[in-house]
Amino acid sequence: MSNTDTKSVSITPTRYDLHTHSLRSDGTLTPAELVTRAQAAGVEVLALTDHDVTDGIEEARTAAVSLGMRLISGVEISVTWQGQTVHIVGLNIDTDAAVLQQGLVRLREFRQWRAVEIGRRLQKKRIEGAYEGARRLAKGNIVSRTHFARFLVEQGYVRGMQQAFKQFLSSGKPGHVPGQWAALEEAVGWIRSAGGQAVVAHPARYKLSAGKLQRLFGEFRECGGEAIEVISGSHPPEAAQHFARIAAEQDFLASAGSDFHDPEKTWMDLGRLPDLPAGCIPVWRDWEQVESPPAKVAAGSFS
Ligand code: AMP
Ligand code: MN
Ligand code: MN
Ligand code: MN
Repeated sequence: MSNTDTKSVSITPTRYDLHTHSLRSDGTLTPAELVTRAQAAGVEVLALTDHDVTDGIEEARTAAVSLGMRLISGVEISVTWQGQTVHIVGLNIDTDAAVLQQGLVRLREFRQWRAVEIGRRLQKKRIEGAYEGARRLAKGNIVSRTHFARFLVEQGYVRGMQQAFKQFLSSGKPGHVPGQWAALEEAVGWIRSAGGQAVVAHPARYKLSAGKLQRLFGEFRECGGEAIEVISGSHPPEAAQHFARIAAEQDFLASAGSDFHDPEKTWMDLGRLPDLPAGCIPVWRDWEQVESPPAKVAAGSFS
């Protein structure tokens, strides 16, 4: 690992990565492997944020404890907003919270129905066994479009993941199934009911006009959303300054996450995130108080 920490020390003495995936959703590492890799890469505070599921947190926590690393329990919730899929990350959630878990069950039921439907649609395009193939690659975990993409690559239908999405799985393509994920206010509500903080994931990735993105942020704020990802491994570098400005102007806390999925084919590897730009208020600003016993979070901060 390179030793280039001098620049970061003044702004963020601790290295945070608050958006990552394990094979419990569409990543490829087990939760324990993810934690081990993150620690080796210099991450000090890691959030596991699998899509629509929190099953990996316990294993990740056990690994983190044994390595002396701090693990934040998280989730990345699929939302449909104005006909588009938007992702809302929840941080510091109580994974036992019933309302959150009931909501996630509903999303996983839709996800399962959708997987069968994706398989049916691909079969019409003479791609046989896609559902079974995606399920095999998901190894008993939720089935994501990522697993279909891996199947299409494995079977030689496409050369790579990008092509799999572009040709078959993105909106309007033969294997794309439109449908309804959570409403924005539901997702934020579930996160808040679990005591967590809601974060708009990778805002630069949505195909929304500036005006519509503005409306998304406005509605997100109204239902209790607190933060946006100013730094994302899936953003182009220039997005950091842009979203730092938006966060400052609109009083959002700023989060940072790699969106790590896979050591080889990922947006970004672990441990490589740049610092938050100056002027951002980090989403972790009050976390030390949250952690220390008796751990009663200031309830007033949501009022
Ligand atoms: P799903 O939640 O099943 O609809 O799958 C969405 C996931 O697909 C995202 O979380 C990404 O990990 C992955 N994904 C979406 N678009 C692409 C792309 N163009 N290339 C690679 N992975 C993608
Ligand atoms: Mn993913
Ligand atoms: Mn996402
Ligand atoms: Mn993600």
